[in-house]
Amino acid sequence: MATLDAPAASPLDEIIITAKLAQRPSRVPDFAAESAALVGLMKTLRTANANILQTLAEAALKLCRAHSAGVNIEEEEQGRSVFRWHGAAGRWAALVRETDPRAASLCSLARDRNEPVLIAHPKRYFDRPSAGMPALSEALVVPFAVDGVTVGTVWVVAHDGNRRFDREDLRVLTSLSEFAAVAFQVLRHTKQLQNALSEERGGSELLQAISAGLIRESDVDALYQQILDAATSIMHSDFASVQMLEEGTLHLLAWIGFHSESGRFWQQVGHDSATSCGKALDSGERFIIADTEQSETLAGTADLDEYRRSGIRAVQSTPLRSRSGELIGVISTHWRVPYEPTAGELRLFDVLARLTADLMERSKAEQALREEARRKNEFLAVLSHELRNPLAPLTTGLELLRRPENKPDLIENIHSMMDRQVSHLTRLVNDLLDLARISRGTIELQRAPLGVRVVIEAAIELVRPLIDQRRHELIVEHDGGALTVNGDLARLTQVVANVLGNAAKYTDAEGTIRLRAGAEDGQAVIRVRDSGLGIPAAQLEEVFEMFTQVREHRVHSGGGGLGIGLALSRRLIELHGGSIEATSSGLGQGSEFVIRLPLASATDNLDGNVHAGAGTPVAARKLLIIEDNADAADTLRTALESLGHIVHVAHDGADGLRLFERFAPEVVLLDIGLPGMDGYEAARRMREMADGGNVSLIALTGWGQKSDRVRAADAGFDAHMTKPATLDALTSVLSALYPWVPR
Ligand code: ADP
Repeated sequence: MATLDAPAASPLDEIIITAKLAQRPSRVPDFAAESAALVGLMKTLRTANANILQTLAEAALKLCRAHSAGVNIEEEEQGRSVFRWHGAAGRWAALVRETDPRAASLCSLARDRNEPVLIAHPKRYFDRPSAGMPALSEALVVPFAVDGVTVGTVWVVAHDGNRRFDREDLRVLTSLSEFAAVAFQVLRHTKQLQNALSEERGGSELLQAISAGLIRESDVDALYQQILDAATSIMHSDFASVQMLEEGTLHLLAWIGFHSESGRFWQQVGHDSATSCGKALDSGERFIIADTEQSETLAGTADLDEYRRSGIRAVQSTPLRSRSGELIGVISTHWRVPYEPTAGELRLFDVLARLTADLMERSKAEQALREEARRKNEFLAVLSHELRNPLAPLTTGLELLRRPENKPDLIENIHSMMDRQVSHLTRLVNDLLDLARISRGTIELQRAPLGVRVVIEAAIELVRPLIDQRRHELIVEHDGGALTVNGDLARLTQVVANVLGNAAKYTDAEGTIRLRAGAEDGQAVIRVRDSGLGIPAAQLEEVFEMFTQVREHRVHSGGGGLGIGLALSRRLIELHGGSIEATSSGLGQGSEFVIRLPLASATDNLDGNVHAGAGTPVAARKLLIIEDNADAADTLRTALESLGHIVHVAHDGADGLRLFERFAPEVVLLDIGLPGMDGYEAARRMREMADGGNVSLIALTGWGQKSDRVRAADAGFDAHMTKPATLDALTSVLSALYPWVPR
């Protein structure tokens, strides 16, 4: 539109002659031409053709019989306000798409007054359009508004005095300006849609590139960077970050944009943090802070100071979930200015979040695999070492035994040394077999009501040699009550012995080991506390994983091990419906292992709980148990009765002999360490009694050395069993003694 050359030269009111419109005679309306023009315009509008404002200018030119006409819209160009010629017809047609500064455009007269203006201008006010363009003599300018805000003008111009505008021109132009307002909205909407579409296309391309990268790339860090670039681009943000959830805390994995000190400040974020990521972690939902300065949750927090330091005014955090729905991290974007992301942005961003979660889940799984492989390799190294250890003294032992000059007590010494090494090897191999059973899921429990005291005693008996060897003080406290669990004697003994053995192994000589057993919240609880090497906090859970050993302990322990004892223990305790956990204040601070088992309820009975040698029938035998430990005797009795045997129990040798006479058992299970008359003596006497030749005598002892077995055989025992006797072991001994009994 023509511009004012020197507005200061004359008051503007001098050239605004709108009042004249009312005085001039009005021409007769040409409705036919007007309708034809409107129909044309409607067609252009329907197709949202960008030329609609040009068509409008041409209609104005024609309907008002003007010399030039146009449609101008106020816009921003390089930070200043201008009026752009969106349509131009007539003599000034060539000026289409040009701009005039707002302050120097005639359009601003109508815009500022917010009403139509008729302007008559003496030539001296205008030199634009110049360069051969005709000057104007009169201009009628009508503003149009959208949502109450004037956005542009429709105008007609006469270049000489032959044409003067009247009320009819004002009516036509006003109606065209209303049309222009609608056209403006349609065009703006179409443009927004196009922008959104092209952004969405751009975003989809980015996402496609990332998905392709997820398949091909193995450099996880590079992928995270690519994701952050895409995040800022999709969300039009200045910063972005990805955090991974580990043990309830968000750990910063990668970020772009913000201050490196803020990176350090937010290295770890917990549930209680006022930041958007803390809130997203806490609620499991997306959290948006559109303006950090207005946020109530942030007010007065150190996080707000940190946001200020990094120049962050707005932030959103979106939770990352694994395919199974578990929260595994958070991805956030940040803006330097207050900002609320649009629905379209968030839609694309959610796809990016999905890809990020997939990447995170994958890299976690890969890391776990690497960790497992590392532990297996370490395990194999330890295993070969542990297997070689007993082999060396065994080889030497064999060589020594071959020497003809050996004295009997030297031979006895060699035997017991070899015995020790063989039982060590047996334990290792048993552990390995258990490991295989556990990984195949074929481990089976032989459960029966069982006194916890029995388990503890059996475990102590197993570990006693090591405790004595290291001169530890062992304090056992039992709350005195009868703690009965529905358990597998051999397996529970194995667990308690493992924990107790570890306490002895990982405590320097002359330490203290305290074992406490009692009932807590309907559970039997066994606590084993030692004054030993302790366990670093980070490894309290790890020690229950296969092949895990605390690195710092390897030098100390000397006792060796495969790092599978606790893994087996946990699995066995879990199979019993219980739990086992470790606590320690750290290296050098001692450790405590707590085993919890459900107490047996009155309804627990043996039916269905006891596995009698894979359910095969066993012939009923008359059995006598002579055992001074009442719990152990009862357990054994219940177990054997559940197999269909007839069982009697005596608690000392003298009683045992009396029952033997009356009951005439076929098999006697005889404890060796009895008060008064010991098992050897009782066995000798039984053999001398009537029927004493037919009975099968089985000795029940702790860890039997070769010498013990020889002594038992001399005393007339048919078989020798180490305590605790499992049902499996008893069944095999019985079938060995009575081979005709089907197993
Ligand atoms: P192993 O004793 O054969 O190495 P475990 O699975 O029984 O295997 O134990 C795993 C690891 O846990 C041990 O190597 C040791 O580092 C640590 N540990 C177990 N018990 C204790 C304890 N009482 N005190 C300190 N560390 C222990």
